[in-house]
Amino acid sequence: MAQAQSVLADALGLAPTEARIEAQVLLKHGLGDVARAWLIAHEHDPVAAKHEATFKLLLHRRLEGEPVAYILGEREFFGLMFKVTPATLIPRPETELLVELALRRIPSPPSGCPPTAMLSPPMGEGGRQTGSGSEFRVLDLGTGSGAIALSLAHARPGVEFVAVDVSPDALAVAYENAQRLEISNISFMQSNWYAALDTQLFDLIVSNPPYVAVGDAHLRHGDLRFEPLSALSSGEDGLDDIRRIVSEAPVHLKPGGWLLFEHGYDQAAKVRELLQLAGFNAIFSACDLAGIERVSGGCVLT
Ligand code: GLN
Repeated sequence: MAQAQSVLADALGLAPTEARIEAQVLLKHGLGDVARAWLIAHEHDPVAAKHEATFKLLLHRRLEGEPVAYILGEREFFGLMFKVTPATLIPRPETELLVELALRRIPSPPSGCPPTAMLSPPMGEGGRQTGSGSEFRVLDLGTGSGAIALSLAHARPGVEFVAVDVSPDALAVAYENAQRLEISNISFMQSNWYAALDTQLFDLIVSNPPYVAVGDAHLRHGDLRFEPLSALSSGEDGLDDIRRIVSEAPVHLKPGGWLLFEHGYDQAAKVRELLQLAGFNAIFSACDLAGIERVSGGCVLT
């Protein structure tokens, strides 16, 4: 363990605590997902040869730079465990801000209110979501693993959610997460942003779109090297997809509806300008725990 910790710290430039946590997490997984308490209690016990071999393999993958979330195949987000694969972005803590801001805008129905939509397998492009149109409806654009939409749907079981992604592989992961978490008030659809949504209207649209500039050096470092580029980067200034999401949102929002989305650390001013150009009101940006303007949004009046 101690050896693995120092190898990880040296190879990946991790702080000692971080390296210790990673070594522990990998060992825990290598031992067949034993409890952390068990691991601590047996810290000095010899490890069986087959478990040692598995651990070495996991360590090797991590030393090659593969993200811990892909090695484990899961990542916790907003208190729920999500399956993640290289077809999906790894949910990040700063995205929980988007979930919190969205929850403030989704009414909590009286307890006992039944879900309004049933979990249905992902529909192909052109598929249609049924619904009376009178209930509160939320759209998640570019859902990936489903982390945002499913966290919201879990917290608001009486509200109807639609989650779209252009990638069928990502949609399959999101659908599996919905099943694992037993969340049924959501439907999935393959769509390039709004393309397959026809004239559907929503009370709230949320998104964590790709927003990193194509030439950004961050894309060549750390976890980002292993994540789908289509989920990370978007044109020269990183704003290509955000421009589309903002400009087309008013067509899909009911009067008084909100658009909320995550963006890059230096994009808030530009994004507020885009929202203004598209006719949004009550435009705002909110800071993440690091004090960085990370989520912006606005509402349409008509
Ligand atoms: N927040 C991610 C990062 O900067 C990027 C995710 C995204 O483009 N939506 O690492």
